[in-house]
Amino acid sequence: MSYLKWKRLCKTCGVRYAEVDNMGVHACKFHCGPLNRYGPGKWWPEGCWDCCGKSPYPTLPSGRRNPRFSAKFLHGCTGMDHSALQTSFTPSDNIPEKVWPRELCEALNDDIMSLKRGDINIKHKGLRINNMGEFFIERFDANMYHKRRKHKWDGDEKLTIEFKYFIKNDEDTLSEEKSVVLDRDATVADLLNKVDGRYLFTKVEVEKNKINGNTTIDNLDQNEVYKVKIS
Ligand SMILES: [Zn+2]
Ligand SMILES: [Zn+2]
Repeated sequence: MSYLKWKRLCKTCGVRYAEVDNMGVHACKFHCGPLNRYGPGKWWPEGCWDCCGKSPYPTLPSGRRNPRFSAKFLHGCTGMDHSALQTSFTPSDNIPEKVWPRELCEALNDDIMSLKRGDINIKHKGLRINNMGEFFIERFDANMYHKRRKHKWDGDEKLTIEFKYFIKNDEDTLSEEKSVVLDRDATVADLLNKVDGRYLFTKVEVEKNKINGNTTIDNLDQNEVYKVKIS
């Protein structure tokens, strides 16, 4: 029997699985950010995972119920494959098409056909195609990983937005594109405060293009080019 069909025990969740049904399916989960053990993290207080704001501890040190405890998020917030050997994956675990065993090719066949038709509703969420047109398997949800590293999340809800802008200096030149991550309800005034700017403009810098400080960032059109004037 092929080693891909051997039953193994997942080190993370304890489920029995066989690699042939597991590779690229992302049926398990992990936390892609740290558990804040010794103090607050970038987004969340001590005792929470910084990637999703949930906590593995049902009670607080005071003995009260912990409102951030979540049974649903106990094993993780980001998809990955079950593994008997490791509890997280990185891009170096990617499996390129040229080394896929025959059983894996057979398991992936339907999804490859779907992708070729442009149907992205597939079972193997980790089945990807590189810019050379070659397939590969990603063992974890790298897209979600990057979104969770950049933004603040409460469970599956994203609480921050990324705003892109240019800085216009005194010599009338523009910086390269910059970006800042802000709370979803942040205003233009909050943005200017964070980046040490005085005004936010669109297009040419005339009075009518100056954006009011009370405007919320969420209401701005991110297809527009925004310029921050420093002084
Ligand atoms: Zn998490
Ligand atoms: Zn698992």
